Amino acid sequence: MKSSATDGKYVFSFREGDGKNRILLGGKGANLCEMTRIGLNVPPGFVISTVACRSYLARKDGSLPPGLMDEVKTHIREVESRTAREFGSAKNPLLVSVRSGSAVSMPGMMDTILNLGLNTETLQGLIRQTGNPRFAYDSYRRFIQLFGKVALGVEDSKFDAQLEAVKTRAGVRSDVDLRQEDLKEVAERFLTVIEKETGNPLPMNVYDQLEAATKAVFNSWMGRRAVDYRREFGITPDIADGTAVNVQAMVFGNMGNDSATGVAFTRDPGTGENVFFGEYLTNAQGEDVVAGIRTPKPIADMAAEMPDLHRQLEELRSRLESHYREVQDFEFTIEKGILYCLQTRNGKMNAAAMVRTSVEMTAQGILSREEALLRIKPSMLEQLLHPRLDASHKAPVLAQGLPASPGAAGGLIVFDADRAANLGKAGEKVILVREETKPEDIHGFFASRGILTSRGGKTSHAAVVARSMGKPCVSGAEGITVDVHLRTAVIGDKILREGDYITIDGGTGHVYEGVIPTVDPVFSAELKTLLQWADEAARLKVYANADTPDTALKALEYGAMGIGLCRTERMFNALERLPIVLDMILAETVTARQNALNKLLPIQKGDFKEIFTTMAGKPVTVRLLDPPIHEFLPTPDELREELRQLEHLKTTAQGVGRLYASFRLLHADALLGEQPHLPFDDRGVELIDQAIIKKELMLKKVRELQEVNPMLGHRGVRLGLTYPEIYKMQIRAILETAAECRKEGLDVRPEIMVPQVCTAQELKQVKKYLEEVLEGVEAAYGFRPDFKFGTMIEVVRACMRAGELAREAQFFSFGTNDLTQAVFSFSREDAENKFLPLYAEKNILQENPFEGIDRRGVGRLMRIAVEWGRETKPDLEIGICGEQGGHPESIIFCHKLGLDYVSCSGPRVPVARLAAAHAALEEKKGD
Ligand code: PEP
Ligand code: MG
Repeated sequence: MKSSATDGKYVFSFREGDGKNRILLGGKGANLCEMTRIGLNVPPGFVISTVACRSYLARKDGSLPPGLMDEVKTHIREVESRTAREFGSAKNPLLVSVRSGSAVSMPGMMDTILNLGLNTETLQGLIRQTGNPRFAYDSYRRFIQLFGKVALGVEDSKFDAQLEAVKTRAGVRSDVDLRQEDLKEVAERFLTVIEKETGNPLPMNVYDQLEAATKAVFNSWMGRRAVDYRREFGITPDIADGTAVNVQAMVFGNMGNDSATGVAFTRDPGTGENVFFGEYLTNAQGEDVVAGIRTPKPIADMAAEMPDLHRQLEELRSRLESHYREVQDFEFTIEKGILYCLQTRNGKMNAAAMVRTSVEMTAQGILSREEALLRIKPSMLEQLLHPRLDASHKAPVLAQGLPASPGAAGGLIVFDADRAANLGKAGEKVILVREETKPEDIHGFFASRGILTSRGGKTSHAAVVARSMGKPCVSGAEGITVDVHLRTAVIGDKILREGDYITIDGGTGHVYEGVIPTVDPVFSAELKTLLQWADEAARLKVYANADTPDTALKALEYGAMGIGLCRTERMFNALERLPIVLDMILAETVTARQNALNKLLPIQKGDFKEIFTTMAGKPVTVRLLDPPIHEFLPTPDELREELRQLEHLKTTAQGVGRLYASFRLLHADALLGEQPHLPFDDRGVELIDQAIIKKELMLKKVRELQEVNPMLGHRGVRLGLTYPEIYKMQIRAILETAAECRKEGLDVRPEIMVPQVCTAQELKQVKKYLEEVLEGVEAAYGFRPDFKFGTMIEVVRACMRAGELAREAQFFSFGTNDLTQAVFSFSREDAENKFLPLYAEKNILQENPFEGIDRRGVGRLMRIAVEWGRETKPDLEIGICGEQGGHPESIIFCHKLGLDYVSCSGPRVPVARLAAAHAALEEKKGD
């Protein structure tokens, strides 16, 4: 609202202020007006607007805008008449609280001043009103300190020193043990502090107090804390410009046994259960609760102690909820049998409680389904889908890494995948700890409860694989030095050894020593209901990235409507398959390669059969092989080391053989018993020789295959076109399995996807293989199985040629992992480790583009590809299967682009389902 709209008026009583105008009145002030407007019993008061704040700050002489204090006086008179008390009166004083409040809450910006209006005279009035001199002196000394600090800028330490001196003299340790006369002395000493520090006594005139407090609140808007806070959280003037000042009559809950104070939630914030939840204390003030002097009682006890007020409180509870249509967290005070509501705000709840209240409040007719969905932030659901650390644990954090895959797990440290697999199989709970992981570690992932790496970002191999399996992962914990040979992880001066226990929290990136208990996730009935509503509201479908029958099954449980990406190279990582894959890669001839492929065919078919069956009735997008080959091969260094060891072994074996021969010459062989065993005999040396030859061949081949930039090298469709027999085998496995499933009456929907495509010619070529295989399948089964054929869009040129590609493809799937790398020319592993943190800190890039789609760059290319692709083929199906497909804001962007589906790792499917619903509902609201 512009200042002109307020007609030069600066002050608004709670009865007249617009409860919706947070910009003018601040959040707190607007809410107090709103509560007053709907007839709740709020202690009377008024709001000095943010317009007044801005005019004050614009003035150079430090004076309040002309006329402001006159308006304040008029409003104080209204409060006096409504409370039957008088501001500054020695007999029946009106005391007020003074609080700041801008349009958005800025915690800690300024402290509240309570009991403003106290001075040596009104203090006597307060003693008379409350009949409690100790309380009155206590209130007075608190007021002097707060006013001194907030309004006059006196340091707390000056007051604290005096308080300590009185405590020592009185022989007490805690404030609450101070007697009335001690508190009186504290107040007197505090008055002296003010005079000494400011050169003036505490203002005794109550209006002078109010004026100074108002200025102090206004000034706090430009205080360092507030300015930093606004900068940090991007609070610009269009969001909040200046603070309001709320002046409200004090009410006291310590005026006898018909008085009380308490806090309550309209529902249990821990579980969301529809029960009144709160605590109160009779004849007490808020301070007593905070100081823990007395233990508060549950609200239910009030039914017996003050039945009428309990009924009123119940009424207040239901009025608050039906008005705000949200669970409320409110404060109340009962002063001499009259119930006041001091404050209310939306209750902060955990995800489980949010879900439950959404579903129950909809059933009660308080919320519509749309509102029930929109009030929950999609990312919040993550909490519900993974084990969490028991909140009561107190363990200190041992190391900090990146929160790469949510969930928490504890177990014993293991430094290599083989050992993890062995121990895992034996039933041990293990955490795989590596510097970084590689595809050949995959069996270790399966056997581990969690993965910890000292290098790599949130999209490192470890992170991506762990997420796809729904296992916790902390990556890039750079404070840890992992030494696989010594089998130690060194963190500062702490040395952890294999077999020691640790716990990782992939939601925070924290690493702890020992095993901390975890709480299992529950996919509650309410969550199922809510997500069903989400699916009905959404337009985008949500698929999962799943590479194995197990992960497909899990994805289905999370509500995946299909599989958007099955990375076939991941299927080859199992320990018994890797040697065959190596043979395939290293084959010197087509026949040798075909031999390896013949062995892989039944293995692939077995996997497809299980996945297709699990996902019957739903699409399964199988991506043809896309391995950056280096990921499957040992490095030349590793091979050279193995060769060195083999040579060493050969020399040793020969040496032992010679030793036996000399013994025999000396007829001492009887001492040695039998002939030497393998590998110390001739046969052994021969075997070692063979191994050396094989490794040397491998080293030669590895050198040949070595690429300068493997991620931009011989991978994806490029590999498929150089070795057509690989893609043909895979296509055959898919189509034969589909035909066999159909024969069994199963509705299977395979979609064949080609990776790394940059030109339509590549697709045309793969289509030729497809046709060839299809003919064979038709001949063998007597029919053509149903399938779709499409392409990944993960190369910049593919976006530029989308119109042409659409002629050859029935669907597109954006591979935003590679596309982002290509658009930025960032290698994702290096970027996340090396410079992205600095870019974030310096605000060069606000968001990690590997987590959420970079709309301005990558997003624009996507838009072009969608537009041109659909120009050629209006019914072209388009989805996304990069990591960003599970990121809520990116999902909203995908919805806006008009994609048909998003595909993400299984455990993120529920989050994506809710985000997809938000996208559709927000769009509807915007219409
Ligand atoms: C991608 O590039 O986004 C993608 C899904 O492929 P990958 O991560 O397997 O390279
Ligand atoms: Mg890719």
